[in-house]
Amino acid sequence: MRKRGLLGRLGWRVSHMIKDLVIGHHRRSDVVLFSDTTLRDGEQMPGATLEPGDKLRIALALEAAGVHSLDAGFPASSRADIEAIQQMIGVIKKPVLTALCRTVRGDIDAADEALTGNPPHKRGVSLFCGTSPLHREHKLQKSKAEIVRLVAESVAYAAERFLIVAFSPEDASRTERDFLCEVYREAIDAGATTVGFPDTVGILTPAKARDFIRHVQDHVPNINRALVAVHFHNDLGLAVANTLECIKEGANVVQCTVNGIGERAGNAALEEVAMALTLHEDEFGRPAKIDTTKLAPLCRLVAELTGIGLTPNKPVGGANIFATEAGIHQDGLLKNPDTYLPYRPEQVGADGVRLVIGRHSGRRAVAHRLDELGVILDDDGVLAVLEAIKRLPKDRAIDDDTLRELARTVVDDKVTG
Ligand code: MN
Repeated sequence: MRKRGLLGRLGWRVSHMIKDLVIGHHRRSDVVLFSDTTLRDGEQMPGATLEPGDKLRIALALEAAGVHSLDAGFPASSRADIEAIQQMIGVIKKPVLTALCRTVRGDIDAADEALTGNPPHKRGVSLFCGTSPLHREHKLQKSKAEIVRLVAESVAYAAERFLIVAFSPEDASRTERDFLCEVYREAIDAGATTVGFPDTVGILTPAKARDFIRHVQDHVPNINRALVAVHFHNDLGLAVANTLECIKEGANVVQCTVNGIGERAGNAALEEVAMALTLHEDEFGRPAKIDTTKLAPLCRLVAELTGIGLTPNKPVGGANIFATEAGIHQDGLLKNPDTYLPYRPEQVGADGVRLVIGRHSGRRAVAHRLDELGVILDDDGVLAVLEAIKRLPKDRAIDDDTLRELARTVVDDKVTG
């Protein structure tokens, strides 16, 4: 046990009582808490290295968006992670900062040191240890009993130093259910305040993911003393769907990354989960306390700083989400943007609807753009410009200059013809 004076011991006990109240409050509340792991799991993506200053900028943007906690790094793994965490202390005030640790005392000590200076209720550790047969036999060479002991001991060690202790059985989705429940029970008994369910290799489907969480809620006797967090990888393109299904089973915390960046096929995308919850409150009844108007700029910031660009069709943040070239859609959007959009650009802080002029455009969009450029043509003139667009080589972008030039040619033709 760590040495504490009488006042220190009293304060610590009071803090633990408050902690239990907070857990009870979160479990009863409908709110889905977002735990962002862009700066840790996201940064693990090959090619996505972030400097400490970049991490701070992203952390500030995540704080502004309303994220509840930040998986800020893995102090035992690198000096740069410690540096990044220290830069956040005193600057990032609202989200809880957590540090990743193996079930090793040295890792927990490194986290304790890295998080020095952050108030007790705003600092935590996130412990992980493989539990699946594959991890037990091939990675750790440990029996089930040895794993249970290791988890209980390291969680207890962490709980003496941190009020917030998350424990995740790595490769949970390929772990025997009975053993998984046993590990959760032991971790909670040892002082874990959150238990994670990581689908480490992204193998689950929504129905199976939901079933797992229901089983955990029903078969871990002390589950009411901890929050349930889910962490999905996107190897089957199902990370967001799996996350949403688990929310229906009472998952309290969703772990996500911005733009879904992360190992292999990445993680559940924060902006997609937040928008699905926001647009379908009738289905989930679980509000996301995320300021959605911050999402599109957040997506662009992460793309810029990680160098992992957004595909044009990436939900929420992609360049094409509010752009269309199709004539019928353009006509509809001009009459009322809701005709062809699930939500307005301003709801995610995007720039606005963009009508792309190209071969698939219709008369109305071309006339609209020409009008915006101050070029007034009659119906025949607009039609002639549209015909001219269709004759251009397919890789030719129709920018405003091209459009002006085509309009001029049409007018000239009319005069000379
Ligand atoms: Mn992961």
